[in-house]
Order: sequence, then C-alpha cells, then structure tokens
Amino acid sequence: MPNNSRELLGSAAHDQRYVERDGVGIICSERFLREPGLTHGFTTRRGGVSAPPFDTLNLGTTRSEPYSNIMRNYRKLCSAYGLEFNELSLVRHEHGVNILRLEGPDAGHGISREPFDFCDGLVTNDPSVTLVTCHADCSAFFVYDRVTRSIGLAHAGWKGMFGRIGQKLVRRLETEYGAEAKDMIAAIGPCICEKCFEVETELAESFAAEFDCPDIYSVSEQKPGKAYVSLRTAAVIQLMDAGVPISGISIMEHCTFEEKELFYSYRRDGKGTGSMAAFLRLDK
Ligand SMILES: [Zn+2]
Repeated sequence: MPNNSRELLGSAAHDQRYVERDGVGIICSERFLREPGLTHGFTTRRGGVSAPPFDTLNLGTTRSEPYSNIMRNYRKLCSAYGLEFNELSLVRHEHGVNILRLEGPDAGHGISREPFDFCDGLVTNDPSVTLVTCHADCSAFFVYDRVTRSIGLAHAGWKGMFGRIGQKLVRRLETEYGAEAKDMIAAIGPCICEKCFEVETELAESFAAEFDCPDIYSVSEQKPGKAYVSLRTAAVIQLMDAGVPISGISIMEHCTFEEKELFYSYRRDGKGTGSMAAFLRLDK
C-alpha cells in the first residue's frame, strides 16, 4: 500500500506550544518538553534587537546586518533558556545531507569560533555541546534517543527532505551511539506548509515517487504546471522508514510563510529577511 499523506499527518502528534521567557518567544514540542534532561526549541522573531527588515530576533549569521546584533540576539536566547553561549555549535548548511558528530572540543563552531565544514545535520551525546541550525522556511528534525541519551538536529529544506536527511540522522544515532530507532522520539519544526510550498509539477511528482505517496502534493487549479508539496509528509515518512514509531513523531504545526508576525520566510521576503534557529541540548 502506498503511503497516504492525510492519514500520516493525522496520526502524528500536533503538539506545538508557544513559550516565552524574558520576551524571547520560541516554539516547542510538548513531548520533548516532557522529557527530563533535554532543552530544545525553535525560535520566532520575538525578543531580539534587530531593526527591520530583520526584526527582531535574527539568528542567521550570513545575513547582512551587523554581526554584533546577531550575537546579542544569541546571548538573549541563551540567557532566557539557560544555554551557554560558548557551547552553541551551528551547522553550516548547504542544503545537503552531510552530518557531523560533535564532542565537547567542537563546541562553539559557527558562532563563537570559525564555522564547521559544510553540513546540514549534527549529532552528539555530549551535554557540553548545544546543537543549532538556522531556518527561514526550511524545517528542522529534532531527534532524541532516551536509552543512549544521544541527540540529533538537522536543517531540511526541500533538497534535504528529498535527500532524506531525517532518516540519515536517525541512522547516524544508531551507528555512532548504538541507539535504536524504535526507542527514539522525533519532532518536525515549523516550515512552509503544503498550501504554500509551490513547486513545478515535475518536482512534486518526484516527491510522490521517492516517498511512495501519491497525495504528497496537490496540483494548482489556477496555475498550470504548479503544485503544492507537503514537506511535513516527507519528513514523517522518512522517520518511519528509519524505524521511528509514528507514536513518537510530533509536528510543530506552524507555517513560516503565512505567519509573518512570528516567522521569517525566504520565500515571502527574499534575501532581506532574518533566520530562526532551532536548538537542542542534553542537560548536564
Ligand atoms: Zn502555509
């Protein structure tokens, strides 16, 4: 039986919760919040110092605003959520599927030290490293294995989704730490939704074939040749293909394209926009 998008999305938990501390607003997964010893979140625009069009919590280090503002925003995030600034370790994304394993000495790359080599995913079992990814329509995979206490975080736009970086992240936790997918929980971050993510029909058909899911897209009535793809469905299917039970999969159901007051969106605003960040850490 091919995968059915509507059924799969209906079976995953939709457990996003907005949390605000010291004015810094983030989106969390209820299931991840319930896990002891874990800190996570997906930032919004709220609580930073950046002026328009980056207002206000821009965490994208490649944006054309003063670096000092971006670092002040990271420090505000750290102070609000108990993170150590020097432990933040940021992917250097290239819309690929490269994943790095990090240890304590790797902490700080991309923010307080020089960047990593290109990578879109990070894994660790070391509490002295905080994994960070940047997003402006692209989704995030948060993965946690409570048996081995190991974590993975990845940035996934359509290329990363199509390349199954979420599935590779799960596999990497298995090979590096002896974790098993059946014990893991996973959350999918806010992203551009299936009503807004417009692509050429040809690409939509490739998604349907790759994920064996005919209704992963819908065609546009108004725009011939265009279709709308569900990146969330692609995320759920690849996590399940990796062996994560559907009962362990959560979706943070926000659309970055539609919710302008909460999120930056590259599709909507182009290069003159900021980035949200996802973060994941094992508490000491
Ligand atoms: Zn949308």
